[in-house]
Order: sequence, then structure tokens, then C-alpha cells
Amino acid sequence: MIMKENNLQVEAIKNGTVLDHIPANMGFNVMRLFQLHKTNQRITIGLNLPSSALGVKDLIKIENLYINEEQANHLALYAPNATVNQIENYQVVAKLPLSLPQNVLGMFHCPNTNCITHDEKAVESHFKIIQKCENIHFKCKYCEKVFSKETMTHHQA
Ligand SMILES: [Zn+2]
Repeated sequence: MIMKENNLQVEAIKNGTVLDHIPANMGFNVMRLFQLHKTNQRITIGLNLPSSALGVKDLIKIENLYINEEQANHLALYAPNATVNQIENYQVVAKLPLSLPQNVLGMFHCPNTNCITHDEKAVESHFKIIQKCENIHFKCKYCEKVFSKETMTHHQA
């Protein structure tokens, strides 16, 4: 099995979450997405690991932290084919399904500098997610402009 081979590339964890099959170079975006730079838990990152499905991939292991389904859906924005395994006592106890969120609130800046969300700090950014074939677009609730995923930037934490 391919899975077994991959699991040996990074040391096993006892309890926590393994985010696998992240496209190479997306690992740091995922770190930021889950605010992993702020945790005190042990995190193991594998970058550019060999993958039979992707060629190369990134992988993140987070000890003692579990992500919920909503967070898994946010992950789908960056890595729609990623796998999220929850580990307890070295065993995979759950695999979270990834599906794109319908709306994303407060996570991204609106690229439109005239958008009200830039002036009114109290207004939380709100994008509707639109998927067209392989491409993901963000539609701002306030200025109603549509942006490609590549133009979106994260709020700085
Ligand atoms: Zn906007």
C-alpha cells in the first residue's frame, strides 16, 4: 500500500491530526490557515515528499490538536485532495471528508481596495465560494466582485 510507505517518511504521532497529500508549496499556506505558528504543540512538517499521486507533496503532523469539519473545508480551498486523518493512540480513528465551504468569513482581504470592508473595520469580510471546473473563485458579499483564488490574501493574524 502507498499509504504505509508514506507514513514512514515522517515519525508517527500518538494523538493528533495528519494532513497529507497537500500539493507541494501549499504546506506553509496551510500552516497559516490553521494558525499553526501560534500553537505550542509539536508540529512536524514534511515538504516536497515523494508521492505517487502528486509527484511531490507536503505533509503536516500536529500533535494533540484536532481540526473540525469546518476547518477541513477551509483546507479544501488550498488542497481539495488533501487527506485529514485523526490519530488516537497511533491509530487512524477518523478521516475527515473535505468539501469546499460555501462561504468564507473573516479570513481573507477583499482585493478590491474600494470595498467597504477596507474602510469599516467592523465589517467582517465575507466571500461566497464559486467553483467552475477546477477553478475556485471568491465573490465578495459587499462589492460583489469575483476574484480568483490566486489573488486572495489572508488577514494577518
Ligand atoms: Zn469586496
